[in-house]
Amino acid sequence: MLKALRGTKDILPADVALWRKIESSARDIFALYDYKEIRTPVMEEASLFIRSIGTATDIVQKEMYVFSDRAERSIALRPEATASIVRAYLENSLGQEKAVTKLFYIGPMFRSERPQKGRQRQFHQLGVEAIGSDNPLLDVEVISLAVRIMRELGIKDFNLNINSLGCRKDKARIIEKYRKAIKSRLDSLCGECRERYKKNVLRIFDCKNPGCGKVVEGIESGGFLCDDCAAHFESVKKGLSSVGINFIIDPRIVRGLDYYTKTVFEITQKDLGAKDAICAGGRYNNLIEEMGGKDTPAVGFAFGMERMILSLEKENASEEPGMDVFLAVTGQGMLDKAFHMMIDLRGRGLSCDIDYNEKSLKAQMRMAEKLRAGSVVIFGEDEIKKGKISLRDMGKREQKEVDIRDAAREILAIKSGTTSERGNT
Ligand code: ATP
Ligand code: MG
Repeated sequence: MLKALRGTKDILPADVALWRKIESSARDIFALYDYKEIRTPVMEEASLFIRSIGTATDIVQKEMYVFSDRAERSIALRPEATASIVRAYLENSLGQEKAVTKLFYIGPMFRSERPQKGRQRQFHQLGVEAIGSDNPLLDVEVISLAVRIMRELGIKDFNLNINSLGCRKDKARIIEKYRKAIKSRLDSLCGECRERYKKNVLRIFDCKNPGCGKVVEGIESGGFLCDDCAAHFESVKKGLSSVGINFIIDPRIVRGLDYYTKTVFEITQKDLGAKDAICAGGRYNNLIEEMGGKDTPAVGFAFGMERMILSLEKENASEEPGMDVFLAVTGQGMLDKAFHMMIDLRGRGLSCDIDYNEKSLKAQMRMAEKLRAGSVVIFGEDEIKKGKISLRDMGKREQKEVDIRDAAREILAIKSGTTSERGNT
């Protein structure tokens, strides 16, 4: 039998409730902060990501799905959204409407990495980009938005870790400093990190190998930010404290993607293991200019949705809501009658279904139970002759005969009864 590709997963109807809960909570919060949704294509010219993310990154070197299309164009499945959004921002002149363009996205991303818990080849991200200001309060807004999503969903035991990479010059200085500090201990690094040492020393900090972690652990940090960037970082920290957000300053957060400048941050969560972040983001003040736009500062983040699900699953075995009515039939010609009532009830906004295979009444009642129907209408030959149906209130376990013309009204009464009872608990 054919199976889903390794590293990809079906999100089945039973799981969808939790996905929708995350999406709808996030959407509500995005609206409060005035972020508008953008949906960009899942495929782009490969060069878009190579230029923006950087050639010496794991994403571009090892993880990106790149293929030639029929016209021999080099196409990539998007590994992340920031580059696509900046492309769309420039291509559609989105910056003209508001001083700061605030966008959010929810969708699948693709990276060819070794699948494991919380790590897939097709995974999903939910994130924002705020384009058009270098004000540290915008960093605070973006971080507080991420924290608000965590809190709203009830994800506990998380840490916000922040750092600043400074401007272009500062970043060059920190890279130089790290190269000097690591040079004498190159032998303790894994083969990959020795390559990283040559091309992108910052990536060593992202290495999941504990040996490499030890090498960079002791390196003294700080003191490399210019006055401007140091003041910016101070304001971000002050702003976070002023809105009651706790954070940990962690100089090892470097975000290996080339485009990051100044503030970078990660949110980690206890259930995911030490090295896996649930959310990551930061400033990318040079990217838009590098991609051919005007000098435009920006800041954003991305949540990994599979990791949100992992953090939520224990507390939230949330269920899809049950249906309003199930229509059961017993006897010749009843399915046709029930079918027409069902269409009428749906027209009135009641959710309902029927057993098209006309199994036994007992089997139909079991199905109604399983579907958590609020009420069941039973069509029986004898009752129909009298213009009546049986109506069972599944919550109260009471059944009565009602005139077929009153059925919809009675069902609605049961529904509002059930809803108000549920509301009280
Ligand atoms: P990691 O260090 O875990 O590989 P990353 O630095 O590659 O993460 P980002 O590119 O910053 O991750 O993506 C932001 C978020 O997207 C991550 O914090 C994580 O929650 C999620 N994410 C990244 N890659 C995957 C993946 N392959 N499967 C599931 N979620 C992922
Ligand atoms: Mg990664």
